[in-house]
Amino acid sequence: MVTGECNCGAVRFEIDAEISDVYVCHCSRCRRFTGSNGIAVVVVANDDFRWVDGQQQVATWTKPDTDWQVWFCRTCGSPVPGENDSTRMFVPAGSITQGGAALEVRHHMWVGSKATWDEIGDDGQQHPEQFCS
Ligand SMILES: [Zn+2]
Ligand SMILES: [Zn+2]
Repeated sequence: MVTGECNCGAVRFEIDAEISDVYVCHCSRCRRFTGSNGIAVVVVANDDFRWVDGQQQVATWTKPDTDWQVWFCRTCGSPVPGENDSTRMFVPAGSITQGGAALEVRHHMWVGSKATWDEIGDDGQQHPEQFCS
């Protein structure tokens, strides 16, 4: 069982699946969202994902004129899981507290527009733009 939560603990979730692949997006939108070099996420089937608490605490924001959306705790601001489409959830890798021992970065996206100070030091495949498995 994989578990995760936001910084204040209001939003908590479980994943009932083996997880291993981490996708890191280096695009400017994700950089502004996290204040860092991008965001690392795990993609999970909706059927394997369960809210334990705090789903009503999840705020969303969609960038105007796009379908780019973020999900965050309305109390503490932590990035939290969101439903990407009717089949998959995007789960921020940093929100996982237990069960993530096998996680490894497999793919980097938008490497063509990453921050100048962002140096990739792992063996994940690097994609210049969007990459979907
Ligand atoms: Zn929170
Ligand atoms: Zn991004």
